[in-house]
Order: sequence, then structure tokens, then C-alpha cells
Amino acid sequence: MELLQSVGKSTDESEFYTPYPAGYKKDKTKFVVVFGTVISGLGKGIFSSSLAKLLKDKGLKVSPIKLEGYLNIDSGTLNPFRHGEVFVLDDGMETDMDLGTYERVLDQNLGRKNFATSGQIYSTILNKERAGDYLGRDVQMIPHVTGEVKLRLRELAMNTDADVVFVEVGGTVGDIENSFYIEALRELSYEEGPGQVCFACLCYILAPPALGEQKSKAAQLGIKRLMEYGIHPDVIACRAEDEVGLKVREKISLFTNVPVECVFSMHDLSSIYLLPENMRAEGLDDQVVEQLGLKDRCDAVEEEKHRIAWQAYVEKIQAEKPTVRIGVTGKYVSLRDSYASIIKAIEHSGIANEVEVEIVWIETTDVNEENVDEILGGVDGIIVPGGFGKRGTEGKILCIEHARKTGLPYLGICLGFQMAVIEFARNVCGLADATSTELDPETTHPVISILPDQKLIEGLGGNMRLGGQDVQITPGTIAYDLYGQKEQIRQRFRHRYEVDPSYIEQFEAAGLVFSGRHPEHPIMQVLELPKKMHPYFVAAQYHPELTSRPLNPQPMFVGLIEAAKTRAGK
Ligand code: GLN
Repeated sequence: MELLQSVGKSTDESEFYTPYPAGYKKDKTKFVVVFGTVISGLGKGIFSSSLAKLLKDKGLKVSPIKLEGYLNIDSGTLNPFRHGEVFVLDDGMETDMDLGTYERVLDQNLGRKNFATSGQIYSTILNKERAGDYLGRDVQMIPHVTGEVKLRLRELAMNTDADVVFVEVGGTVGDIENSFYIEALRELSYEEGPGQVCFACLCYILAPPALGEQKSKAAQLGIKRLMEYGIHPDVIACRAEDEVGLKVREKISLFTNVPVECVFSMHDLSSIYLLPENMRAEGLDDQVVEQLGLKDRCDAVEEEKHRIAWQAYVEKIQAEKPTVRIGVTGKYVSLRDSYASIIKAIEHSGIANEVEVEIVWIETTDVNEENVDEILGGVDGIIVPGGFGKRGTEGKILCIEHARKTGLPYLGICLGFQMAVIEFARNVCGLADATSTELDPETTHPVISILPDQKLIEGLGGNMRLGGQDVQITPGTIAYDLYGQKEQIRQRFRHRYEVDPSYIEQFEAAGLVFSGRHPEHPIMQVLELPKKMHPYFVAAQYHPELTSRPLNPQPMFVGLIEAAKTRAGK
């Protein structure tokens, strides 16, 4: 059967609507699709990125995409309480925190093409409909919505020249939100042909304490649900607390026709970075390579090189290490997912410094002048991360004052940078009511205020300075040393407010050093106190945590942990 090779136009002559990007070549890119059943929160992103890493290590070019069910166009307006942190990509796209997992595990920058939501898909279709692209046809879930999904995946394949596109379907099989994605992927596998698409299904193995054994029924039912969509899994990953025994895996194999070698135990591990090696040990990567006929494209020498480097890292994770304690302040402390990238960046830089980092969460609404010394007494360093709004900010300022005066290593991020400026303005420069116009629009000393070139832009979500920007680093500063004596670096931003340039002279005269700036405009991006005043007091208007990678830990975090280690005498 010859499929219609159109480039996005519908026609009356065929029921097929399969818009291929111009020049699309079948067989070039293979697809691995990851679904989750039984429960959400199984770690599909961790599974998918670990498998993608193993294939990347073999010299294959991989490109992941997350398909989100929700109708928002991006994650920018989502509450971190509900949905975890907003992860900002270099091109300014605000995405789900899973994209952070992909970037970290793959050590690869991603962009807006790697993230789709139902909102984006529908919005594209409605725009096409208004532009008359469907030529009189009624626009339907099948083939038009599914066609749009397939088009996205094939465009990603072409634009990134990928050997393998990893598709993670958000949510759980059976949700209404993601059902059109699942249907699109069934169609994709049919159109691409045998051996082009590998379906992986994550399930959850229950282990009721009263029974004391693992039960596979819920998993079987979940996988059956996927099969009702016309998709037969090629690989099954069984999530569980403890290793999933052969008997349970055999049972799942028997009920699903998936060979037991392809039923993998994905039990809890002390670090997610142990998962690739676990998968490799079970031969899961080779199974997928075999199924997709990618053997000829793999490079064993390359693979060995990466494997050794990763293994060394994993050994460092597992080694006994002295502990340092880092305080992290924040208003979302009750939900760790809101700080996923910070936690990861701390982990990476802890391993680089060969210490175990214990995070001490500090709810700053509880901090006051009487208890600040006691609360911070037990930590060897402190981070004030990004945030929005007034809640807890006075407590943060008290924490920063304590850090500045007692030589406690300090790293401020975004709001933590702004709060450090406010603390300095108030307590060193004597500007008693200095603050940010975000917190008090009427202040007489708005040391932090809206970006001048953005003052005219209004509306939630649209007026933020977002994504990767170049930062000019001043030679001879701490930042310059941290960044390997580079004068220009690139970091990711997500903020509205900035230091009011009219105060800079005053701050600098009092000893504050702005060691990172916008290359052209008077926008302050890194501040520090000189070594003679403080062992480590550094803050950034950008989000250093977003670019920390296991084998490339972010220098500002590495510097903090190093200073904390020295302070702790470890
Ligand atoms: N609320 C501050 C601003 O908008 C800081 C933002 C942040 O920490 N991400 O500038």
C-alpha cells in the first residue's frame, strides 16, 4: 500500500492523512516509545533517558521527546507545588522537569522540539484549520490530530538527524488526555513498518506487606490496557521497591507474549544514575538495538570509553564519604520536586568534591532574628534558590545576613541573588527600606526592579526573561576562576526583576563585586564578595542548577560545596 506522501495538506481523494516532512526517509530514524501503566510517577523519564544514554554511548544519535497530555502550551504557568519545577531550556522553552532528567543523563541540550503538549498540538491544528489547510475536510481526531503528532515526531527525527527518537508518553495508559498520542504511535509503528518502532511499557509490581510477596496482576491488567489500543509491548520494565524475581517476570512474560529476557526488573536504587549500568547488565540495551536493527551503526570502542567514565562516576556515588550539610531555603520545601535540579546539582558537585551532601530544608517563614543563628548553626553552607512573591523573603534576608557576617558559604540563585543585593543595600549601605518592587512597589529604594526594556510588556507568562544568554565574566574574580578563566559563559534565565543600575556604584564602593554582566547592557548577573571579606559568597541572577550534569557539575555549586567542606574541616 502506498501511503499519501503529502506535506501537511489534506485531500478529498484519500482517507489517509499522513503529513510527512519533505525529504523524510524511512529506516533512517527508529523510535523507542515509553508508556506507563498501573500508576503515574513510575519514572518513565528516568527509564527512557537511561536507555537513551546506553544507546548514545554506543555512538548512536538520540533525541528524546516528551508528549504531555495537558492543554497548557508550556509549563511556564504551572504551579511547582502541583507539577514539580519548571525546567527552562536554552531556547527559552519552559518545560516539565523530565526534560531536566534527559539533559542531565544524556549530557545534551534540548529545545522546544523535544517537548509537546496537547495544547500545542490542538493550537497548531486550529491555526491550520483557519488557514484553510484541510481543504474542506472535517477536522478529526483521526487522522488529523494523530497526523499532527506523527508529523512532530518525524520532524524531530529529521531536524536532529537522530538514529533513535525516544518518545515518552506522559500520564498513564487509559487516561483520556494521552489516548490520541497512543493511537498516533500505533499508526506510526504501522506506517514505519516492522523493526522500526520499539514499544516499552513500564508497570508497577505490588508487594502488599501483609502477603510478603510480589503480585503481578495489576501489571498484567495495565499491559492489557495498552494492548487494547492495538499496541503490543516489545520490552516491559517492572517498577518495584525490591528486585522483581524471575517467577513474577515469567508470569508477566506468559500473560503478554513478551520474552522473559525483555521483562526487566526496574527496582528502586540508591541513585538513578545506577540504572544505566543495571540495564546494561541485564542486556536491555542490546535487546533494543537488536529489535531495531541498529547493530551496524554501533561503535564498541566508543561504548567502552563512555562505560568506563560512567562506571567511575557510579563508584564515586557509592563510595563512603564524609558528610557536609547544606541548608536550602524555600517556600516549596514541602515538595522536593520543586527543587529537582537544585538537588541534582548539589549531588553532582558533592560527588565532584567527594563528600556526601545532606540537605537541610529551611522554611524561611519560620526564621526570625532570635532563631536564625540557631537554625543555621548546624549547616556548613547555604543556598537561597529562586522563587516568586513575598512569602518568606524577610527570613531569607536574615539567613543571608547571617551567612555574610559569619563567613558561612553562600550561593544565591535568581531570587537568592536579588535578596543578597537587598541585604547588602540595607545592612552595609544603610538603605533601610531597600527592597524589590516585586515585594513592595512603593519602596523608596527599589534596588531590584523590572527590567527597563520589559517594562512595557504585561501579562503572566509572557514577560519573563527566559532561556540561555551570554554572560560576561570579569577577569580576576571568584566567578572567573570558577568558570575556568572563561570571559564569556552561557547560562539560563527565568526572571522579571533585576538590579537597578543606578545603585551599582554605591554597592561597589561598599565592597560588593559584580563579576558577571550582560555583554552589552548594565544588567548585573553575578555578584560576589572578595575572598578577603568572605570565603564564598556568590550569587547569580541566572539558574546555574539547570546546566549541571553528572560528569560536568556546575562550577558555582562545586565552589559552594568545596567551601562548605573546608568550613566543616572534612
Ligand atoms: N521573582 C524574581 C523575578 O521575577 C526571581 C525569579 C526567580 O527566582 N526565578 O525576577
